[in-house]
Formats: sequence, structure tokens, C-alpha cells
Amino acid sequence: MESYEIVIVGAGPAGLKCAEVLAEAGKEVLVLEKNEVIGPKVCAGCLTAKDFTLGISKNIGKSFKEIFVHTPHRTTIMETGETIITTTDRKELGQLMLKQAKRAGAVIKTKIKVSEIKKDSIIANNKEIRFKYLIGADGSSSMVRRSLGLKTKEIDIAIQYIIPKVYKRLELFFDADLFASGFAWILPNKKFTSIGACVDPRYLNAKDLRVNFNKWLKKKKIDVSKARFEAAPINYNYEGYKFKNKYLIGDAAGFASGLTGEGIYFAILSGKEVAEQIINKKYKPKGIEKILRIKSHHEALLKLFEFSKPLSAIEHETLAILLKSKLIDKEVVDIFG
Ligand SMILES: Cc1cc2nc3c(=O)[nH]c(=O)nc-3n(C[C@H](O)[C@H](O)[C@H](O)COP(=O)(O)OP(=O)(O)OC[C@H]3O[C@@H](n4cnc5c(N)ncnc54)[C@H](O)[C@@H]3O)c2cc1C
Repeated sequence: MESYEIVIVGAGPAGLKCAEVLAEAGKEVLVLEKNEVIGPKVCAGCLTAKDFTLGISKNIGKSFKEIFVHTPHRTTIMETGETIITTTDRKELGQLMLKQAKRAGAVIKTKIKVSEIKKDSIIANNKEIRFKYLIGADGSSSMVRRSLGLKTKEIDIAIQYIIPKVYKRLELFFDADLFASGFAWILPNKKFTSIGACVDPRYLNAKDLRVNFNKWLKKKKIDVSKARFEAAPINYNYEGYKFKNKYLIGDAAGFASGLTGEGIYFAILSGKEVAEQIINKKYKPKGIEKILRIKSHHEALLKLFEFSKPLSAIEHETLAILLKSKLIDKEVVDIFG
């Protein structure tokens, strides 16, 4: 039977960062990815300054120093004089992270789907592979998470059209009547634009989101006839990440934000943190504490929607007014970043 000290399921940002850090420390690590090509993923690909503290090159995408924030009553331009958001093509990001993990010495195998998890081994493409540590980096529908008996109760649903045209402005749209606790976006990339919306289905179900989103597209005269439609869940239901010799990272652990749907930073940071813990048993996971702190702030804001829709609408308008004052620019950038 094949045997590796560490087996990672999934070669998304979480799995690849974890593999890179482990391999750099001389650990024997195998990453199994079900897809043939590493990188492509239903995602708008927005990165913020904090992503670039984790080894991602600043040249990876298209940078924006301004965000146009719209509410039903006003439009505010959010600007700090520096790049606020960089949009990236997930294939490009995946290929960059793959190169970094391979260079560090990780073994990465594609077209291998993990189908069963046992105590000290997994079954993948009908073969059994033994491990000392198993890391579930297999995204929002994680089978490693399911194998640990964890349910996923809190998700966002995110939908987007990929339009083969590069829009000029990066824009966010808050409208409690159309998108409830969520928001819609226009996010131009280098070669295409993602136009999408994201919401917690407890406040607006997937069918109604699609209906409202189409209504909004029509009102804005956005032509999606040549666009590709995509949809995927984002798991933000955190129930722990360490389970004896098994770990969960990224979306598999529910580390994404329920408020903004952001997950790339949390995936990369949690991948790094779990790797450091395996390398050094005394390592203090300050990064995991940071993720949980940000998540708890975001989810407290999301909770406002539980109390009332009008309250959320007021929250959106207040946000726009505060942005205009520029007094709290940094804090607001931190919410969205
Ligand atoms: C429409 C949309 C827009 C988004 N926009 C943004 C954004 O702008 N910015 C942001 O930060 N986040 C965004 N997100 C969230 C972001 O995509 C995720 O949080 C992020 O990709 C999580 O990374 P991950 O490595 O945990 O999981 P993933 O990127 O999902 O990677 C998991 C990997 O595991 C593989 N896998 C799954 N099951 C198996 C198996 N059984 N065997 C082998 N391999 C397996 C998958 O093929 C995949 O490659 C968006 C999400 C959606 C749906």
C-alpha cells in the first residue's frame, strides 16, 4: 500500500499553501486533486492587501484603487489612495500556487478523486493510500468534513455570469429588497468581467436570488446572452478544524466569511497555520484566531438581518454615508477586505 506522512485532499488555495509550507519544512506530502487542471473554480477572484502578505505576487491581476458602492439612495466612491482590490483569474492563481508547492517539493496528483476516508487511510481511484495526517482542503462540499460527521448548516449561495468584456469600474450594489443580506457586484478581470450576487439562503432562497438578479440585470441593461452562468455554495459554518490526526482548512472548515463571501485569504492562511502546527507541535495558531475573530465580526453584522430587513437597509445606507466621510475608510476596507 502507498503511504505518505501527510495526504491533502484538494488542490485549491488552502491545499496548495498547506502543501508548500509542509514540503518546505522537509515533510513528505501528497496532494490529490479530482480535476485535471488546477485552478479553475466558480469564484470572482477578488484579492485584497492581506492576500499579498501570504506569498501571492501583486502582479497577478487587475488592480483597483476605487470601489463604487451603490445603495438604493446613493452612490459612494470608496478610495484610500492605494489598491483596494485586485481581481484575479482563478486558473492563473492556481497555477502560480501549484508552481510554488511543487518547487517546495510537494507531490501533486490530478484526476484523482478521494471517495472514502478511513482512520489511517483513504481510497482514491480504487487505491488505498495510508497517511499519518489527513488534511481536508476539498472545498465547500467537503467529503472529508462529512466523514467527520460534521453537518453544514450555514452557507452562502453565490451566482455569477462571466462576461467576455472588460468593464471599467469595480462596483458593489446593496439593495435589501433584491439581495436581502447580500449584495451584487461588477468585478472586471484582465480578460472578462464577473457580474454576480451572493446571499445567505436563509434570507433569500436560490430561486428568488436568480429571479431578482435577472430583474436587476435587465434594469441595468446588462447583456448576458454571451455570458457563462455559474453558481456554487460558500461554506461559512465553522465547527472546528482539528480532529485527532485529521484537519480541515479553507471552505471545508467553514472559514469563509458569511457576510462578504470572501474565502481565498482564509483558505490560504488556514492552510499555512495547519502546516505550521504539524511541523511544530508548540506552534500557536494566531492566524486561526485572527480568522475566527474576523468571522465573528462579519457574522455579527449578518445577524442584524435576522432582526429586520429595514434595519439592514439602514445599515447599507449608513455604510455608504460613512464611506463618504472617509473617516472610517480603513475599517470599511477591513470589512470588505
Ligand atoms: C461565485 C463565487 C464568487 C466568489 N468570489 C470570491 C472572491 O471574489 N474572493 C474571495 O476571496 N473568495 C471568493 N469566493 C470564495 C472562494 O472561491 C473560496 O472561499 C475559496 O476557493 C476556498 O478555497 P479552498 O482551497 O478552501 O477550496 P476550493 O478552492 O473549493 O478548492 C477545493 C479543491 O478540492 C478539490 N476536491 C473536492 N473534492 C475532492 C475530492 N473528493 N477528491 C479530490 N479533490 C477534491 C476541488 O476540485 C478543488 O480543486 C467566491 C465563491 C463563489 C462561489
